[in-house]
Amino acid sequence: VLVRAQDLEKLEELGRGAYGVVEKMRHRETGTIMAVKRIHSSINDESQKRMLVELQACMKSDCCRQMVRFFGAMFREGDVWICMEVMATSLDKFYRMCIDTHRRLSEPFLAKCALSVVEGLNYMKEHMNLIHRDVKPSNILLNRQGEIKICDFGISGHLTNSVAKTVNAGCKPYMPPERIDGDAKDAYDVRADVWSLGITLVEIATGTHPYAKWKTPFEQLKQVVLEPAPKLPINMGFTDDFHDFISLCLTKNFQNRPKYGELITHRWLVNAREETTFDVASFICEILDQAEAEQRNVLSGINVNFAVNV
Ligand code: ADP
Ligand code: MG
Repeated sequence: VLVRAQDLEKLEELGRGAYGVVEKMRHRETGTIMAVKRIHSSINDESQKRMLVELQACMKSDCCRQMVRFFGAMFREGDVWICMEVMATSLDKFYRMCIDTHRRLSEPFLAKCALSVVEGLNYMKEHMNLIHRDVKPSNILLNRQGEIKICDFGISGHLTNSVAKTVNAGCKPYMPPERIDGDAKDAYDVRADVWSLGITLVEIATGTHPYAKWKTPFEQLKQVVLEPAPKLPINMGFTDDFHDFISLCLTKNFQNRPKYGELITHRWLVNAREETTFDVASFICEILDQAEAEQRNVLSGINVNFAVNV
């Protein structure tokens, strides 16, 4: 079926990012529900064509369980609409839900996340010859079936130079030192994504972004280049394997940083793959249910106040 923008009916907003909005939509004819990311782009026809060609390659993501299913993309009045599978939430929201419900992301869960991301990124590289370039908690999505998948592949390279993007959008820095300052600034390497994964894991494991204490994005980028790489705190009870995995991902010199082949055989991930007692789906459902219940309490609290005021 050829999907056109006018055949889609908006159901609700799923989230907002620096470049646009993600909405849950229904394809009227087939009833298919999808998440549609609308990015405002003033790019010309030539780059639109190139972007579409690259996005078409993302159709292969169907074969990979660790990548969000991609349905297709279209242009409408200068906007790019990217249609993908709907997921329950993203890791940035999920770890905050955990904090709100006074829980922590356990190490088995963190290891499952890392395993999915590494497998997804490795598939992208091996089968699609694609480097992600924007690995961060909000680009790792979860669902109630316990699936953990990466999204927003094949997009970020088309928008703008990523250093400018980070500074302009005021995002926290997930990019490695060599992307900010060095000869490798323009030659993208998979190991940039490995660094971003390391920062992502530290953030969701501890509940704070390791560079969050620095005020301006510009200062943060300077920290990435000048300071020693972030580490996991030693007093949080994490295993030696996890500490080791993080220090490998956050190797400052990218030439010494491992690629996916080495990470996949790291003991922390090998154990995560063999781990069967930890039920990812139940854990995700538990946190989502608690967060939703809390949300309902907040809302009914508002009603009570209204009633009292009347
Ligand atoms: P960013 O990734 O920079 O936060 P995006 O525009 O890519 O910005 O996404 C905004 C939010 O929309 C994300 O944080 C995520 O929570 C949500 N989102 C994105 N894609 C999906 C999806 N396929 N299913 C459910 N929620 C999504
Ligand atoms: Mg995103």
